[in-house]
Amino acid sequence: MMRIVLLGAPGSGKGTQAQRLQSKYGVPQVSSGDLLRDAVARGTELGKQAKSVMDAGQLVSDDIVLGLIRERLGREDAANGFILDGFPRNIEQANALNALLEEIGQPLDAVLLLDVRNETLMQRLAGRRICPQCGTVYNVHTLPEGVNTCSKDGAELYQRPDDNEEVIGKRLSVYDEQTKPLIEHYSKLGLLRKVAGEGELEEVSERMEAAALAKPVPASKVKVTRSSASRKAPSSKKKSAGGAAAKSAKPAAKQGSAKQAGKKAAGKKAAGKKAAAKGKAAGKRKAAGKSAAKSKVAKKAARGKVAKKSSKRPAARRVAKKAARKVARRPAKAARRGGKARAKK
Ligand code: ADP
Repeated sequence: MMRIVLLGAPGSGKGTQAQRLQSKYGVPQVSSGDLLRDAVARGTELGKQAKSVMDAGQLVSDDIVLGLIRERLGREDAANGFILDGFPRNIEQANALNALLEEIGQPLDAVLLLDVRNETLMQRLAGRRICPQCGTVYNVHTLPEGVNTCSKDGAELYQRPDDNEEVIGKRLSVYDEQTKPLIEHYSKLGLLRKVAGEGELEEVSERMEAAALAKPVPASKVKVTRSSASRKAPSSKKKSAGGAAAKSAKPAAKQGSAKQAGKKAAGKKAAGKKAAAKGKAAGKRKAAGKSAAKSKVAKKAARGKVAKKSSKRPAARRVAKKAARKVARRPAKAARRGGKARAKK
């Protein structure tokens, strides 16, 4: 069961990644762009209405797209999940999707955001060539010179009509204005997981898989214990609470965590557990330092001497960093405590 939305700018690789997840997990890719292009190709009334809007890089009306998505999600192969690609694209569509998914009893598991720089997007889109037979996507920058046919079936590659520079610019600004607000929307709902979308295809796929399979950790289950000193400081209290919420909301939010999870847990256990473990790790046990080595480093760091040697060991480094932060906060705390703190010094 995998019910996810892929979010990302045009050219971020949603389609490619959706196809890969589809073939590995047997959950269908539901692409609003493909559904619309299919309607255009078949020359249906709806397709005729959509064509000019698509060619201009604008968004097709919510009603049309929602109708297509509703019909597609109602098909049998979507009963055990789906990978939504290109939908929703604005807040209204997100709300409509939410209502539809409630109606069919299939709530979202996660929203994966493919993060790619603008200059990369431009290059990918302007150079994109597609096989009309099998849908494989190529790029003129990586195709051998003079080759314009599919390596799988020999069909002549074509360029999408909206993949020209002017329309690409329009699509990117439509994304910025209308779709980007969904990042915050899904982040608030605790569903968003950000994945670095640049690098080798395989690498990106690994990150996507890890992020898709990560189990979210509800905020209530993330226990953050603070040391007695930091408990008194109001500013650190705020920080801890926010940190816990952020961790639970985005278990694989960082490229690193998704990648690590993918490698270590071979995809299945993934970053959700890691986030939970991290939450616990922030607790007393580690701060006090369970092993002699850890507590030695912590003590040194508390005195402001963070040993260089120890910073090479990740566990020790974390303890040392935490203690060093404590030291760094001392002047502020002392100021708050007033004369008492000064007298102690
Ligand atoms: P890309 O993400 O690369 O722009 P898509 O294939 O997802 O490509 O979409 C192509 C075009 O189809 C969009 O520019 C837009 O006109 C239309 N479209 C696709 N999905 C939606 C949607 N959810 N709402 C409105 N229009 C859409």
